[in-house]
Amino acid sequence: MTVATLDQIDHELAGGFRWLRFADALERSYGREFAEARIKLAMFWALVGTFIYDLVYFGDVTMMHDVFPQLAFVRFCIFTPYAFIAVWLVRRRPTALNYDLLAISVCVLGGFLPMAASVPSQSPHFFVYQNGNIATLLFFVIALQPRFPAIVIGLATLCTVHFTLIQMNGSLDAVAFSGVITFFVTLAIFLALSAYFMERKDRLNFLNRLRGELLQAELRHQSERDELTGLYNRRSLSRIAKSVWERPASTAVSVIMLDIDHFKLYNDVHGHVEGDACIRQVSACVAEEIRELGAAFRYGGEEILILLPGCDGNTAQMVAEQLRQVIEASAVPHHGLAEGGVVTASLGVSSAQSGLFSLDDLVRAADAALYDAKRGGRNMAAFRRPEPQAQDQLRLAG
Ligand code: GH3
Ligand code: MG
Ligand code: MG
Repeated sequence: MTVATLDQIDHELAGGFRWLRFADALERSYGREFAEARIKLAMFWALVGTFIYDLVYFGDVTMMHDVFPQLAFVRFCIFTPYAFIAVWLVRRRPTALNYDLLAISVCVLGGFLPMAASVPSQSPHFFVYQNGNIATLLFFVIALQPRFPAIVIGLATLCTVHFTLIQMNGSLDAVAFSGVITFFVTLAIFLALSAYFMERKDRLNFLNRLRGELLQAELRHQSERDELTGLYNRRSLSRIAKSVWERPASTAVSVIMLDIDHFKLYNDVHGHVEGDACIRQVSACVAEEIRELGAAFRYGGEEILILLPGCDGNTAQMVAEQLRQVIEASAVPHHGLAEGGVVTASLGVSSAQSGLFSLDDLVRAADAALYDAKRGGRNMAAFRRPEPQAQDQLRLAG
């Protein structure tokens, strides 16, 4: 789930994230995605990596015959089980940090073990043999792809270990040794630089994708919600009603039409800005009350339509009465009324089986019931059953 806002994303994009770090919430989100993507491939790389690593057994036999048993031992008995156990552990705790630690440890151990086992070797092929760690560096950066700080730590540690063990072996002369250092350091720098730019690109893609998702969600929200109240807008009514009426079995459906009482007067006395706030307040009460039951739509100026799928007439009347009480109890002062008067609403309720009547039939009946409530003195709920329309009656008569 996204916790970032468009502003935060734009801020990061403008900043350029040269330090390869976002603000906390975004960084956590990036870390989660990074870990998920990498850990998905970890077992694959464990299989491929250890297979290739263990194939070098043949190189051990031919190039390093005098320490071959030790090399076979570190390859098969230490590194191979370690790689699988470490991947298994990281899959149980799949965090970005754990993945980075896995990658560093695999790189350093994979490079260290054969070199350490080769220290006592007198083989004339040691110079060629130590080049094998180039593959370790490439595998670490290109295949495992941990985050940049982990890459720097892994490359620096492996190079240090590599050079130290070459020196302990002592079979390379000063020229060959400095050549190895120059070559490995240059390679490590190029790898680190390319990893830096790759991660920046990866982070840019992450931000752009997140931005796209947020914009899409915002557009969807704007297209279906009313700006002032946050309730569904009228355009959404047919879409949501369609899904109710399309259900295979006929089911009870109720509609409540709510209208704020004496609202023209409220606007006249309090002003339109306060009037807007009052509509918002009533809408918030409605949204809160019917949250689990159905959907609320801003139908007109200060009219709210409530659609209650699966709700019969009795329940709908109880909901309407509850709404009336909550709005009155929220005690928004209405100075246009007598001393101590508060904002109230009248409600019209109608209910029927979805297979027998349309949404329009229910809305017509709820409208008529609302008119009854207004005529009855306001601040009350009234109920009406929908009636078959004139053309339906004609059809029945015919
Ligand atoms: P009744 O009790 O019979 O409903 O009387 P009423 O004065 O509330 O009458 P009616 O429902 O017809 O009044 C609607 C008023 O709501 C008219 C208009 O000035 C006001 N109105 C409609 N939309 C908005 C809005 O978005 N903001 C504000 N502030 N007022 C609105
Ligand atoms: Mg009205
Ligand atoms: Mg009104």
